[in-house]
Amino acid sequence: MRTQRTQVAIVGAGPSGLLLGQLLHRAGVHTIILERQTGDYVLGRIRAGVLEQVSVDLLDEAGVGARMHKEGLVHCGFELMFEGRRQRVDLHGLTGGKTVMVYGQTELTRDLMEARAAAGLFTVYDAQDVRIYDFDTEKPRVCYRKDGVEHEIACDFIAGCDGFHGVCRSSVPRAAITEFEKVYPFGWLGLLSDTPPVCDELIYINSERGFALCSQRSRTRSRYYLQVPLTDRVEEWTDEAFWDELSRRLDDEGRDKLVTGRSLEKSIAPLRSFVIEPLRFGRMFLAGDAGHIVPPTGAKGLNLAATDVKYLSMAFVEYYVDKSQAGIDAYSARCLRRIWRAERFSWWFTALMHRFSEDGPIVGKFQAAELDYLMHSQAGLRSIAENYVGLPLDFGEHHERQRSAHPSEFCGHAGSVEGEHSRAAAAIAARFN
Ligand SMILES: Cc1cc2nc3c(=O)[nH]c(=O)nc-3n(C[C@H](O)[C@H](O)[C@H](O)COP(=O)(O)OP(=O)(O)OC[C@H]3O[C@@H](n4cnc5c(N)ncnc54)[C@H](O)[C@@H]3O)c2cc1C
Repeated sequence: MRTQRTQVAIVGAGPSGLLLGQLLHRAGVHTIILERQTGDYVLGRIRAGVLEQVSVDLLDEAGVGARMHKEGLVHCGFELMFEGRRQRVDLHGLTGGKTVMVYGQTELTRDLMEARAAAGLFTVYDAQDVRIYDFDTEKPRVCYRKDGVEHEIACDFIAGCDGFHGVCRSSVPRAAITEFEKVYPFGWLGLLSDTPPVCDELIYINSERGFALCSQRSRTRSRYYLQVPLTDRVEEWTDEAFWDELSRRLDDEGRDKLVTGRSLEKSIAPLRSFVIEPLRFGRMFLAGDAGHIVPPTGAKGLNLAATDVKYLSMAFVEYYVDKSQAGIDAYSARCLRRIWRAERFSWWFTALMHRFSEDGPIVGKFQAAELDYLMHSQAGLRSIAENYVGLPLDFGEHHERQRSAHPSEFCGHAGSVEGEHSRAAAAIAARFN
């Protein structure tokens, strides 16, 4: 058994784990990341692609935003299609200048991986049989096997960034967790292709044949989704059948502009809303998909993971630099408040845009009435827009009062985290090792 020591052992090298590692590195906090897959496997997973402003700011703070700003696409709005008619939601105009960034999760993950490698930081890919111990004591441990050799990591904290199927959440006694879950009666069939997107912006479509989403990863790479029954199998969907069904859910303009091509990837994802409470168990903290899942309508999954990590990195920095437990103690409640707001929006947007055949035609009428109202109400449009671009990190907090009491808690502005992290870096680097 080989033993290593670190301050924060991070389980999972998805976006949550890598971003946490990068933020903590910049603050001088030592981490080891354990990932059960290979790096190539992690990079091959096609997932999210829309970043809120808060996530963009966070990647900048982490020092990995350069390629995103060069290659990412800033979107100032999106389109909603209903009964064959489209209406644009002007995100920029309705939110006082906020936008979203189209940049694939795979690209973001690559940037974080490269930054970690360039800094010479320790990530163990292909770590087998990861086990966590003693997280309810002062001396947590993480064990794993690599190339047949057993390793043990002694640490101050464990960050469970290991996704929905990870080991961290499942290591907590059931009685210590409250689970909230809704599984939707359909899935999303996704297709990725090197074809130009059908529209400059995303189109969310509620059609009689079911929901569809025209999304994209770049000006030459499209990502399309179709609502399909949970009983469908991806092997049953040829590319031709996919394109045919998508064009039936589009309007005439969309059908004219749709460029079809060979699929690079095709998969069916089930939709679920899932949250556990709390997100802290002694010295172990869950972040990202390990603690919550949203249906992808509204693109909140990756963005929520990023903000969990922001709160968690701030809490650890506060612990090491200011010798304060306040951030750690507040972590779960602060995250959950933001998580539930995003869960609500994703659930509502999913209910508005999908066909729920088992509930009969009355639901379609409710949806039509609600969309009609929303599209003709500035208040309705503004509500969609401000949720879609992402609520500010301190939304709902009495921030003026707290800002004066705890200045380090409010790091929504790029400069403040920089300053906090460089102060922390100097202080911690002097102590660790
Ligand atoms: C098919 C799919 C499509 C999606 N599409 C969208 C979308 O369009 N828009 C959107 O906003 N969100 C989408 N999401 C959600 C988004 O991708 C996630 O919210 C995001 O990946 C969360 O990042 P994470 O790092 O918390 O978890 P993950 O990305 O799941 O990363 C967890 C990591 O932990 C590793 N791991 C797991 N178990 C262990 C273990 N025992 N030991 C060591 N490592 C372990 C995993 O291999 C993985 O690399 C999608 C998710 C899926 C699954």
